[in-house]
Amino acid sequence: MLRRCVGCGLCLPHCATWAETGNETHSPRGRLLLLGDMLEDPNPETQASYAEAFDLCIGCRACETACPGGVPFSLLEYGQSLVAPHMEKPSAATAFLSRQLDSRIFLSLLGSFGRGMRTVLKWGWGTTWRRRLDDAPLGADNLVRLLGSMPVAPRNNEELVAQLDRLVGMSSQIHKSLPTSGSPHDVAFFMGCANEGLLPASSRRLLAVLEATGHRLHFLENQECCGALAAHTGRPGTAVRLQQANIQSMASLQDDEMPVVLEAAGCGLQMKNYGPDFQDRIVDATVLLGDLLLPFKREVPLKVVYHDPCHARHGQGIYQEPRNILKQIPGLQLVEPLESEMCCGSGGAWGLHHQEMSERLGRRKARHLRLSGADLVVTSNPGCLGQIADGLAMEAPGLPILPLGDLLWYALLTHPIN
Ligand code: SF4
Ligand code: SF4
Repeated sequence: MLRRCVGCGLCLPHCATWAETGNETHSPRGRLLLLGDMLEDPNPETQASYAEAFDLCIGCRACETACPGGVPFSLLEYGQSLVAPHMEKPSAATAFLSRQLDSRIFLSLLGSFGRGMRTVLKWGWGTTWRRRLDDAPLGADNLVRLLGSMPVAPRNNEELVAQLDRLVGMSSQIHKSLPTSGSPHDVAFFMGCANEGLLPASSRRLLAVLEATGHRLHFLENQECCGALAAHTGRPGTAVRLQQANIQSMASLQDDEMPVVLEAAGCGLQMKNYGPDFQDRIVDATVLLGDLLLPFKREVPLKVVYHDPCHARHGQGIYQEPRNILKQIPGLQLVEPLESEMCCGSGGAWGLHHQEMSERLGRRKARHLRLSGADLVVTSNPGCLGQIADGLAMEAPGLPILPLGDLLWYALLTHPIN
């Protein structure tokens, strides 16, 4: 498989870590050369000296999508497994935090704390709060970063309507009844931890969108975290336990082939890999909706830019579906940013371990989104939402970002009153 790499370098401009450092060993091609070295000379000194190069790989898979020779990302994963014993251990605080991120209760508490802190800071400093916090000599950069990149979205429907009405320049009312038609399709809904813990109102709005577009929802009893974070933070035993619990939960549905819909791309990729039976059964909400003619009636005359989560675009090959959905909203103009294929630098637990690089990538992404001329950014993964919101707060204060489902809810379930 390694010999499939002909060294053409076409993957390099798509790799976020190479784009930021320009260092060949931080590129896919460079990492593959290092892997070749380790295979030829399998000794611990070689592995230790290459640990940093593999540790810095975000696992975004943009290189896999870009490679014309079909070099698989699994080679880089293999390289990571070889150097794993030599990787620098995260600080105790970072390790503790990483372990808590698959707990909905912890995320919910964290979300409430972060929201309260941000409200106070915005009240005092306005839209420049994030920049001023960055300049303040607090000596707590990790906390500042955590606070800035916590995903938030309007907590109730009225707040969302007010925000979008301001952008659109008109007042709206919420539809009293849902525009459903035809016989509903049965789907089960998997609630991701970050969505449920940090963005519960947005999840409820996505459920309303699914119902309004002809789906009858079934809930998975006793569902657990998908296991992605446990798998990526060196807890394979926990990941397997969570996977087994979710498989059992899906088996308890009346129809054990019923599609299971998710909103977070990271959960989707993890669950598709539960086994061959789940490849087609696990469906991203954008894929479910992207195939339909959606009954949008109201105009949303905004320039909107969509950010592709890497686990959707590169991990699951989802590209056209969210764009198909957005293009159906009357009056909406879809614009594309530069480097749309490049990772925003969130990377789940990666962003916690590589805070400086993560922040630089978030700001790079935000600059491109601002230059697209968009009035609004939307995305469909909570990690990307928080990461990009933080970049925007630094680079484009005032350019809002929302979950894709929130915009769909507004376009489907509200109507203008003047
Ligand atoms: S991984 Fe693919 S795109 Fe990158 S240098 Fe090798 S052959 Fe070229
Ligand atoms: S997975 Fe992402 S960060 Fe890692 S080498 Fe590929 S493009 Fe670069």
